[in-house]
Amino acid sequence: MQIKTYRAQFIRELSSIYDEGEAESFFYLILEEKKQLRRIDLALQPDLVFSEADLQVWNSILEQLKLEIPVQYLLGKTHFYGLEFEVNENVLIPRPETEELVDWIIQENLKIEKFKDLKILDIGTGSGCIAISLAKNLPNAQVFAIDVSEKALATAQKNAEINEVKVTFIHKNILETVDLEQEFDIIVSNPPYVRNLEKQEIKKNVLDHEPHLALFVEDDNALIFYRKIAELARKNLSPNGQLYFEINQYLGKEMVELLENLNFATIELRKDIYGNERMTRSSVQ
Ligand code: GLN
Repeated sequence: MQIKTYRAQFIRELSSIYDEGEAESFFYLILEEKKQLRRIDLALQPDLVFSEADLQVWNSILEQLKLEIPVQYLLGKTHFYGLEFEVNENVLIPRPETEELVDWIIQENLKIEKFKDLKILDIGTGSGCIAISLAKNLPNAQVFAIDVSEKALATAQKNAEINEVKVTFIHKNILETVDLEQEFDIIVSNPPYVRNLEKQEIKKNVLDHEPHLALFVEDDNALIFYRKIAELARKNLSPNGQLYFEINQYLGKEMVELLENLNFATIELRKDIYGNERMTRSSVQ
């Protein structure tokens, strides 16, 4: 079958779940991964065909996409900040908003790291996407990353190897941690922050397949991770250290209050490209 004919059929079959643009982006992701072909190759060679064996692979992927399994889990990988990451159901699929947080940290620290050996800690690292992109782009920094899930840490370790960076991974439950035992120049975290009351906004592919441990918090204690991490950061940030958070877009005001109450200074709240309040930066003095 001609690939372009299959492409139309693939998009049509997913049309009740995904809009055309999304289904099309899945098609090209799979095409690149399974056939090492890009959109431009199809345009230049419109007569390219799928063999019977190809069709079997594609039809099986299509069936799983219809069950709303995220395409990144089906392919076992995704891209984040220009790097490749292995992903599976033990780790959250890295989000574009988080790339913006990483970019903020890199832009603010590129010059500093030239004359200072930065020590960075990522709390709740999951796939390792934040820690690893920072290690790659701030090559003089020493990067540490904590997670409560050993399975997530195994994936993160693999991702550090794939991306050829050194990150020290630590298995720890941050809620039970009394002291970080070292001083850090940067502490960053994208902890769970979705409340039950926001569940109806979460798509089925996320809800049914991504780790709830990485996503959800109790409605009446939504900032539990932020409070704990900010308290630890107060003790363990270096004098010029910075604390960066990805936050729940509906809790920007509460986040700023929390940081003010813990006497953080120069608190900055930033929006993501969708215009949602999505990240904060603050310092101890
Ligand atoms: N932004 C993620 C989502 O859309 C949530 C990430 C988190 O809870 N830290 O599902």
